[in-house]
Amino acid sequence: MPERVTGAGRYAPSPSGDLHLGNLRTALLAWLFARASGRDFLIRIEDLDRARDSGSAARQLADLAALGLDWDGEPVLQSERGADHDAAIAQLAGAGLVYECFCTRKDILAAPTAPHAPPGAYPGTCRELSDAERAAARERILPRRPALRLRVPAGTAAPGYTDLVLGEQTRGEIDDLVLRRGDGTVAYNLAVVVDDAAMGIDQIVRGDDLAPSTPRQILLQRLLGLPSPPAVAYAHVPLVLGPDGKRLAKRDGAVTLAELREQGVTPDRVRTELAASLGLAAASDADGVTAAQLIQRFDPDQLPRTPLTWRPAAANG
Ligand code: GLU
Repeated sequence: MPERVTGAGRYAPSPSGDLHLGNLRTALLAWLFARASGRDFLIRIEDLDRARDSGSAARQLADLAALGLDWDGEPVLQSERGADHDAAIAQLAGAGLVYECFCTRKDILAAPTAPHAPPGAYPGTCRELSDAERAAARERILPRRPALRLRVPAGTAAPGYTDLVLGEQTRGEIDDLVLRRGDGTVAYNLAVVVDDAAMGIDQIVRGDDLAPSTPRQILLQRLLGLPSPPAVAYAHVPLVLGPDGKRLAKRDGAVTLAELREQGVTPDRVRTELAASLGLAAASDADGVTAAQLIQRFDPDQLPRTPLTWRPAAANG
């Protein structure tokens, strides 16, 4: 058994439907990174978006269990963590780092942007409004309510960090990111940073589509006085692509455990296929590989750096 360390890894799915093979592979990797380093493994259901399908969280957990993944304690529901999210925004506001933003998406697209700003970056329209201008704007946008943005201190460079998979990351600039949307929902970046810290997470493994968010999250960690790299490790893992080379999606056929089961593909077989895609098993292995065996075999340094292209026939062996 690996030596016990304090700290924990996590998997944080959004309950927006059944997990597909790409999600399951990321979950397997998050579990392997945590367990192979002796960490706890925690689950957080990212259910802030109220329009989400309420039954899918339970199905997602059942699928993780069917793959042989286990977790410590009860899954945390992000929607129950509002008090901590509010406190973090209040802390930032107390430091003068929060302002109201009255812009619509259209306003932001129409506004002239700074010459080197990344596409979609907030142009700072509402950053320096006077009290009177803000009061007028609140009236003008009713019944809409303002969003809250982080006033990124002038001259802040995007924090660099060393990703366990992607290597050295030194990317771009950070704009005034949203902390709370106009509809009152807490923004993903704020919630994830506050919740990871509260849960004692010191190892974050997730799909590499989220890598661009990481400098913003590290900036928030620092402004809130929460643990940040190198005390928190990041590993952004390659996504699974469909046969068309695009990110795997429902249109790619049988991609969830339920759909694969209907085709006679068992969760044990899916685990073995996913392990084979990580260089941890032979796909031809008729007996399959157990989750416990994978912990023994897992070596983060040997992880394939390229996306896996899923070909449906591959599951039917
Ligand atoms: N809830 C996010 C997703 O399902 C993942 C958030 C994270 O891992 O930071 O894409």
